[in-house]
Amino acid sequence: MARRYLIDRLSSRAEPIRPEATGDDRYLQPIQDGANVLGIIPGTELPDEYVIVGAHYDGQGTSCRTTVPGDGVCNSATDNAAGVAAALSIAQDLVDHPPRRSVVIALWDGEEANLRGSIAYVNAPVVPLAQTVAYVNFDVLGSNLLPSLRTTTFAVGAETGGSVLTGIVRDAVDADALDTAMVSAVLGAYRSDYTAFLTSSIPTVFFSDSTGPCYHTPGDDIDVVDFDKLDHQVATATRVVRALANSRSAVLPSTSGTASAPGIRIYRGSMAGLCVPLSTLHAAPRDAPRMTRGQHDSLHLCCQGLAPFTPCRSPGALHKSTGRATRRRQCSRPARRAPGQSSCRPLCVVAAIPP
Ligand SMILES: [Zn+2]
Repeated sequence: MARRYLIDRLSSRAEPIRPEATGDDRYLQPIQDGANVLGIIPGTELPDEYVIVGAHYDGQGTSCRTTVPGDGVCNSATDNAAGVAAALSIAQDLVDHPPRRSVVIALWDGEEANLRGSIAYVNAPVVPLAQTVAYVNFDVLGSNLLPSLRTTTFAVGAETGGSVLTGIVRDAVDADALDTAMVSAVLGAYRSDYTAFLTSSIPTVFFSDSTGPCYHTPGDDIDVVDFDKLDHQVATATRVVRALANSRSAVLPSTSGTASAPGIRIYRGSMAGLCVPLSTLHAAPRDAPRMTRGQHDSLHLCCQGLAPFTPCRSPGALHKSTGRATRRRQCSRPARRAPGQSSCRPLCVVAAIPP
């Protein structure tokens, strides 16, 4: 049903990737147990160079991480209906302002099944990878990690496109009131569809709010979507896609699409899904073990277990609460899991972010 709806939405904005097929198949790339939905907006001057804008449309369905009495369905509103909406919004912008380069709108299936859709794509691309200048990914948008981070979001991995992509993302970020923290690809933990492109040496930037309290729960429903934040995220990403698609200078991929930028140092723990500046969390240096004195300002705290510190609530409800809980518990040790309470898993990374 979701697939049918998306084909409807996409077909009014983009051309089919398989014009020789019939009906819905013209927009579908079959994969194991599903299909990617793909459309293309042809470039006016450089039609053989491509930007890919992608978001996964598969969700949790009835296989949620937790269950709420009376609600066994995860509607996956922020993860990733909001990301799909962002991709479709950008498609509309490109229709209104035809791009110089071609843009492929890619709505992936099977992200929750080990990135199956995007991996299938790079193994059988509909446009040449060698002429794909960049991949822009959306996964988890319009979401708030913590009450204190309502105006914070993340742009992951711009350094994989060197100074060109870094500059484009920074300009787009600077033009918006939203505080978009640019963090290294390594801090996205390779947990979304950008991974397949990264391993194909294609520069990528991944917009995300990371995994908040509603992540993979029945609570990830439309009432927790922060639409004001989503508007800002879409505006920022639209500027990035416009710049990539219209740049007068070459934005072809570097031959060394690198996964980890110089200067990153992992200090402790294992890879995790979220990263926030320590200064935002007001964490004292003692909370970040082995941190070198003087590096405080450039450090981010990344904790998979941070998300359950706040309940899954609507933006309005979160606004009334304070960020105090974030300081009460750090991820240095697991909290005992009590009935009705969420857990705190001891997964923390402290890493230096490259300037
Ligand atoms: Zn997702």
